[in-house]
Amino acid sequence: MLEIRQLSVRYGRAVQALRGVSLAVPAGGVVAVLGSNGAGKTTLLRAVSGTLPLHRGSIDAGDVTFDGARLARRDPADIVAAGVVGVPEGRRVFGRLTVDENLRAGAIGARDRRSRTAARERVYATFPRLAERRDQRARLLSGGEQQMLAIARGLMAGPRLLLLDEPSLGLAPRVVTQVADVVRQISAQGTSVLLVEQNAAMALAVSDHAYVLALGRVALERPSAELAGSAEMRRVYLGEA
Ligand code: ATP
Repeated sequence: MLEIRQLSVRYGRAVQALRGVSLAVPAGGVVAVLGSNGAGKTTLLRAVSGTLPLHRGSIDAGDVTFDGARLARRDPADIVAAGVVGVPEGRRVFGRLTVDENLRAGAIGARDRRSRTAARERVYATFPRLAERRDQRARLLSGGEQQMLAIARGLMAGPRLLLLDEPSLGLAPRVVTQVADVVRQISAQGTSVLLVEQNAAMALAVSDHAYVLALGRVALERPSAELAGSAEMRRVYLGEA
């Protein structure tokens, strides 16, 4: 359903961040993108969601389509309307707003009050801890809870494909397990997920298929179960000989 073909992205003249990357996310699938710092993972998600830094980042070749419709170079709002919603790195929640207000802010695209309320109740069913804290200000939540809130807010837009940028970053192992469970639940509810992670173990455990990026190229691509623990994976990803 999401097709990225031969995508190249540069920042200004000097930095070629992606070089001919091709990747597919099938309907209902969870696809992981792994790679070390600077490999181009965030750039890939930003190119898909239309949020490359203005005046600097640009797609200079290739294409991105979703159900056959072209997404490349379109406005972020059009891309959200097409059903593709990004949750950026670093849990950017509105700290002074309550949990409930954060979710309301995410209800873009919902037509009326009733459908917005229904969306909120669905999201609370997936995140019971957020339901318990719905009137608390977001900045008082733990790091893990803020990450859950960032994901929950993304779900409020009713995406068919959710783009997650390093949701496990900086979280304790126990909380990473909770994030993994949430990814599985989102997928079970019929939303596809493109998951960017440095935590390879977590990403391979929840995804069907994985791509490893290195220096802006796809270095390796396999079913996740084959990659987990493979020597190839260690060589490409961790740079072991
Ligand atoms: P990280 O995990 O650190 O976010 P990443 O794999 O997501 O790494 P990107 O952030 O996509 O990597 O960066 C890819 C390349 O593009 C790097 O060389 C980086 O320095 C460069 N880059 C990223 N953003 C910009 C920008 N706004 N201006 C110039 N160069 C950039």
